[in-house]
Amino acid sequence: MEQVESRIADACDRSGRPREDVRIIAVTKYSSLENTERVVRLGLRHIGESRWQDAKVKWETIGDEAEWHFIGHLQTNKVKDVVGKCTYIHSLDRPGLADEIHKKAAALGIRQKVFIQLNVSGEETKFGLAPDKLMEFAEHLKGLPGLDVCGLMTMAPYEARAEETRPVFRRLRELRDELNERGILPQPVNELSMGMSNDFEVAVEEGATWIRLGTVLMGKE
Ligand SMILES: *Cc1c(COP(=O)(O)O)cnc(C)c1O
Repeated sequence: MEQVESRIADACDRSGRPREDVRIIAVTKYSSLENTERVVRLGLRHIGESRWQDAKVKWETIGDEAEWHFIGHLQTNKVKDVVGKCTYIHSLDRPGLADEIHKKAAALGIRQKVFIQLNVSGEETKFGLAPDKLMEFAEHLKGLPGLDVCGLMTMAPYEARAEETRPVFRRLRELRDELNERGILPQPVNELSMGMSNDFEVAVEEGATWIRLGTVLMGKE
């Protein structure tokens, strides 16, 4: 963890960014309840999970000691499980899903924080909205007050050399800026959820505000 911390600090230095602009999500999807409790005690408050079936026991045990981030692909029929329990949903990628999250949030009387997931790399195996659909999608979201759109999220292709992921992260940042210039959403979106164990330094250099770290933080169990 200290090593990860100094690598983040170095990446911030290289790009002239303040360290506090970058927050860590500890991705515990492969970790036991015990290990998850351990990292929360160490002060990592933001916990990322990609399947609610696996997250549920951790959420029931740890609860408000942590803030929960849903980072996996979200099926429409699973929306009811995560809205209101997870502070952030990182995988909003289609209108039907947006409608369902809005409905559930409105019923609970809350606004659900979401990230729009974009498939910037265009890999067929990846979820996420095509970047050329972003503005149209934002028009749709504008009519859904149960959603609080706070940023954009992407996953870069796994590259042996992290440097090769740079264009994907840079593009996500440009898309955020374009979205804000168009002024479609009621408030500007600031957050960029990008960077994982193998490429987080490049993501930080390109403007990540949330990095999602699994193996590099949690080890392999
Ligand atoms: C698993 C996962 C991560 C963390 O992956 P590592 O390579 O272990 O850091 C980050 N983001 C998403 C969406 C994931 O599914």
